[in-house]
Amino acid sequence: MNASRPVARLAGRRPADQVTMRRSNLALVLRHLRDAGPRSRARVAVETGLNRGTVSSLVAELVDRGLVREGDVERGGSVGRPGQTVELDGRHIGGIGVEINVDYVTAIVLDLADTPVFEHRVALDVQALPPDAVLDAVTELAGQAIAACAERDVMPVGLTLAVPALVERDEGVVAFAPNLHWTGVKAVEGLHHRLGHPGFAIRVDNDANLAALGEFAMGSRAGTPHLVYLTGETGVGGGVMVDGSLLRGAEGFSGEIGHMPLNPGGDMCGCGRRGCWETMVGLAALLRMAAAPDDPVRDPSLDLERRLAMVRDRAEKGEARTLDALTLVGEALGLGASILVNVFNPRVLVLGGYFASLGSFLAEPMLAELRARVMAPDACEVVLSTLGFTAAARGGAHVALEAVLDDPTLVPLRPT
Ligand SMILES: [Zn+2]
Repeated sequence: MNASRPVARLAGRRPADQVTMRRSNLALVLRHLRDAGPRSRARVAVETGLNRGTVSSLVAELVDRGLVREGDVERGGSVGRPGQTVELDGRHIGGIGVEINVDYVTAIVLDLADTPVFEHRVALDVQALPPDAVLDAVTELAGQAIAACAERDVMPVGLTLAVPALVERDEGVVAFAPNLHWTGVKAVEGLHHRLGHPGFAIRVDNDANLAALGEFAMGSRAGTPHLVYLTGETGVGGGVMVDGSLLRGAEGFSGEIGHMPLNPGGDMCGCGRRGCWETMVGLAALLRMAAAPDDPVRDPSLDLERRLAMVRDRAEKGEARTLDALTLVGEALGLGASILVNVFNPRVLVLGGYFASLGSFLAEPMLAELRARVMAPDACEVVLSTLGFTAAARGGAHVALEAVLDDPTLVPLRPT
């Protein structure tokens, strides 16, 4: 009696399975073209294991959806005769990344090839505002990003909010952001509501994790499978790529390296503990050491990069207090980084945020400390992020685009 049931169920599913298989094959080809670069259809067929006719049909559909376009003629390829290549397009879809930090809110829109469509930063004293007011500011900025997309015929496919916090990603909740004074803020729900429930997914994630993903996708050492990213802002966070995957930990809370207790009994940290690493190397620590309280470099209402340019200018002129502060921070940076390099054995350590802007002054004391404390110092290259303060927002935009790489049919066919 039961024998007929599986057959009936299978028969009912068959059409859906074909749709699912087509979608997953579209995704396979699209992702391959993004990761491997322009190539002929024949080469795509060999490399993906799909047959050539199927690849031609899939590519035709991806072209119709504006996600792939014809490229140059491929010469000297290892597979078959020279052929017309196809390459990633996706100019008409955008991933939105928005970052909330202590001193600013920033938004960036990237198209599928990670080319910026829109970028804007607003100085904001986030600590002085309640979460609702900050989410209002984020909404305004996101609204500008969405309007910029509309002007450029770009369809937003997702928004990722980057926050310096422990984040419960599945719930869309900022669990604890010590430097923002946020606890249990329903950020995704708040944005959905404020943006009038847009037709795309909204996510929230830790800023350093997103920055590490951004570096891995589009930084100067993109694709390095073992990569550690350090973000230098008021808070100090880390994103650790192991074998090409982001290390998240059991609860998704890994990377809280700013709270390594490197100076027990030292200064009070935003997290309520004493002597965390970020009390030694965070932006606030540097500025406190480098300048008096009424100095404009310590005024959060001024744009952060402008303030850092002032610090850099003083250092270049040989101002003693500034140089001493940078040396102390560089040494403490090397001390903490040596623990990370010993534990994770990364190929590359990327310094982001203000560590990158002032890297030329931090590098010498930091590298001396690393050489002294790391068991295999030559195995790890230290580089300054070229993405600067946009790394987390870029990573967020990149993650938002994953929706299309998972399901290219989310993008409608474009009228020819
Ligand atoms: Zn702490």
